[in-house]
Amino acid sequence: MDGHSDFQADILVIGGGMAGLSAATALAPAGAHIIVLDKGRGPGGRMAARRVEIAGQQVSFDHGAQYFTARDPAFRETVAAWEQAGVAARWPAAGEDAWVGTPGMNACVRHMAAGLDVRWNVRAERLLRDGRLWQVEAGETVFTAGTVLVAVPAEQAAVLLADVAPDFAARAASVASAPCWAVMADFPELLPVADTYRSDTAPVSWAARNSAKPGRSGTESWVIHAGPARSRALIDLPKDEVARLLLADFFAATGTAPAAPQHLDAHRWLYAQPEARKGVGPLFDAGLRIGIAGDWLHSPRVEGAWLSGRALAEAVAQERLASTS
Ligand SMILES: Cc1cc2nc3c(=O)[nH]c(=O)nc-3n(C[C@H](O)[C@H](O)[C@H](O)COP(=O)(O)OP(=O)(O)OC[C@H]3O[C@@H](n4cnc5c(N)ncnc54)[C@H](O)[C@@H]3O)c2cc1C
Repeated sequence: MDGHSDFQADILVIGGGMAGLSAATALAPAGAHIIVLDKGRGPGGRMAARRVEIAGQQVSFDHGAQYFTARDPAFRETVAAWEQAGVAARWPAAGEDAWVGTPGMNACVRHMAAGLDVRWNVRAERLLRDGRLWQVEAGETVFTAGTVLVAVPAEQAAVLLADVAPDFAARAASVASAPCWAVMADFPELLPVADTYRSDTAPVSWAARNSAKPGRSGTESWVIHAGPARSRALIDLPKDEVARLLLADFFAATGTAPAAPQHLDAHRWLYAQPEARKGVGPLFDAGLRIGIAGDWLHSPRVEGAWLSGRALAEAVAQERLASTS
């Protein structure tokens, strides 16, 4: 290592999804210089939205998380602030306590990122120790900080942490995430079916009329999710074939006469939701100044990711207080 650094910060957060941005948002008021790195082209993580032009109209599909609930009092307060800011709204079709981002699911993450220094399109490839500092290699660019927080899905955290924080890496490696194939379909005519469909046993675990969510455009757009077993069975098939198969599953499951879509696409989430949580154990190693956050450390939901990020921020802040007192 040559000690070269392109960007320096007090805290580097790897992963700008809900967990990483929750941690960065909670730590920012204390004045630390925080840089968040995310490999995505834009905000969302697994709360992603895909924009496409269909019949001359921009349509946005929520192909990852469909809605979220807010049960923790602090998260409720945050969601109330998002509602005030116009980036979240209730969606009763999914349940009386269901919320969605507006105008797309990624709006809450975009809103959080707006107040932070987030570098999109930056994939952290390697973590290295340089004396008491961390270096994060991202292509040709090197970021340096005293503290690094890793907020990526468990399988990806296991790889990043293997050489530098073996205990955290082992914890991440013990988590398996379920895959999910997501189909995005748009139809010229309304389908005679309710706004949401869910099943624990059918090949299709969830389907929603995306265009019925608050603040959406488009006439009749649908997102269809295959359950974990069906997703695994189709895991290596080409996406166009998967889209056709799952659309047929959807019509069969809902008893709807098949209709021809004017847009059909599919996205494979390899690590959609962790199947078991590994919440036991510290989140922050004060000696090494490295921490972990993510839904896999709390619960496999948006709220779990937010709470995990906030818990990590609290652990970092407590340690900073202890080291200055
Ligand atoms: C298909 C699907 C359906 C879901 N349905 C729901 C639902 O209905 N309700 C609900 O509450 N939750 C749902 N979830 C789960 C919810 O989306 C997640 O729990 C939550 O978004 C996880 O946030 P996170 O920050 O932990 O991870 P992520 O959102 O995955 O964020 C991690 C970020 O890290 C970035 N990253 C990864 N590796 C690197 C690297 N090496 N360098 C830089 N950046 C990196 C990624 O680009 C990503 O932005 C669903 C998820 C999926 C995929």
